[in-house]
Amino acid sequence: MITIENYINGELIPPSNNRYLDNYNPSEGKVYGKIPDSNEKDIAKAYSAAEKAFPIWSSSSVEFRSKILQRIADLILENLEDLALAESKDNGKPLSLATAVDIPRASSNFSFFAKAITQFSSESHENNSINTINFTLRQPLGVVGCISPWNLPLYLFTWKIAPALAAGNCVVAKPSEVTPYTAYLLAKICMEAGLPKGVLNIVHGLGASCGNAIVEHTNIKAISFTGGTKTGEHIARTAAPMFKKLSLELGGKNPNIIFSDCNYDKMLQVTIKSSFANQGQICLCGSRIFVEDKIYDQFKNDFLEKVKQLKVGNPLDKQTDLGALVSKEHLEKVDSYVKKAVEEGGVLLHGGKRIQIENFPEGYFYQPTVIEVESNNCTLNQQEVFGPVVSLMKFSTEEEAIQLANGTKYGLSASVWTSNIDRSMRLSQQLKTGIVWVNTWLNRDLRTPFGGTKSSGVGREGGLEALRFFTEPKNVCIQYSPE
Ligand code: NAD
Repeated sequence: MITIENYINGELIPPSNNRYLDNYNPSEGKVYGKIPDSNEKDIAKAYSAAEKAFPIWSSSSVEFRSKILQRIADLILENLEDLALAESKDNGKPLSLATAVDIPRASSNFSFFAKAITQFSSESHENNSINTINFTLRQPLGVVGCISPWNLPLYLFTWKIAPALAAGNCVVAKPSEVTPYTAYLLAKICMEAGLPKGVLNIVHGLGASCGNAIVEHTNIKAISFTGGTKTGEHIARTAAPMFKKLSLELGGKNPNIIFSDCNYDKMLQVTIKSSFANQGQICLCGSRIFVEDKIYDQFKNDFLEKVKQLKVGNPLDKQTDLGALVSKEHLEKVDSYVKKAVEEGGVLLHGGKRIQIENFPEGYFYQPTVIEVESNNCTLNQQEVFGPVVSLMKFSTEEEAIQLANGTKYGLSASVWTSNIDRSMRLSQQLKTGIVWVNTWLNRDLRTPFGGTKSSGVGREGGLEALRFFTEPKNVCIQYSPE
């Protein structure tokens, strides 16, 4: 049994109430660890540690902060195997995915912002006619809160923490209570890397108590949150009267738009990934597949053939394509969406059932599922399932494809498959999403702005956007004497 502790003021300590929650291994469906059930007392403790650390950390040189962040990045890579195994065990994702993507990206998040902060600059505006210069001071905010979800645990946790620390803030952070393990291991890495005490505090617990206490804390100046749209709404309501700065990365119902003139083989290969990578539990998965009518039947056949070849199984097995869903509750939610889709007239083309895997009778495994729908207004096309479930629907014109793609409350990302550059530009302009991928998917350059429109969120992360979010711009206006 692994017992996780909070990381506060540079030490690993138990929660103030000494209460712990169960942590499940989703592929076994069994409890394998305990995590602190922290509350507002622990958040208050974490805040005071961060507040105390802030004057020194924020006034330390950029080179010093950069060096420590780079050391953390290096240690993550040195511990790649252990971290990937921990992530796979905690989340149910294939070990191969955690090894190739999650953990290397967590390291890159730190190394990227270790470098980015050394290049961060601000504007100045000179007006010679009145002997004035305005320049923008970019100062750290103080103590900030970072709250992350379970689907890409260490990847998304570090995507927030790294820019916050690089910019000179101190942090109170909470990983998802469903996947806390790698955040705990990160605390140990920060201790080894010599991160000064109190600069980063990692508090574990439930969203309603521990997470909410971060948002409600009057002196925590900003909240960077990634998670569900409903939780985002609650956070926005709580934070608004305190005028906190907010970055909200929320849900998606992303369109994958396929035109007949695309590079078909590449599209098919990538569409399998964009549908089912990480068991479809990526906010950027293309869960609504729209196919031009000319190639619809061909696509349906070829896609189903490939889906049938996907192997659902032991996350530690190298051949596994899909591991377990993250929890029993989530599996039941996914299954209920599939049932509802069929009730509403959707045609189940493949999957739609929980599966039992040899030696893992209690694991939360679910078949990759494909449902053909006739209307974009069905629940399946309007609500986020966040599992291995995609819908197929045909369209006949470019205008119709745009209308269908924009016809949800979400606006995170879209993929467009076409070899017509003019069309790709028209769609890029008209799709109401924060990200458009043309002839690719999940192709990420950390310098680019990342985030959604509509109910998919507010604000942008990534590159300079993240450093801007975690700093307060202050305009300084100096009038000088010309003599
Ligand atoms: P969630 O909203 O349930 O939880 C996210 C985090 O918020 C967890 O740490 C949770 O404990 C915490 N939380 C819950 N209630 C809270 C409250 N009242 N106050 C403060 N914190 C609270 O989301 P989830 O189920 O962990 O993650 C899945 C969701 O995340 C999906 O909707 C997915 O689309 C979204 N997501 C979005 C992005 C993006 O970049 N836009 C990336 C990944 C996941």
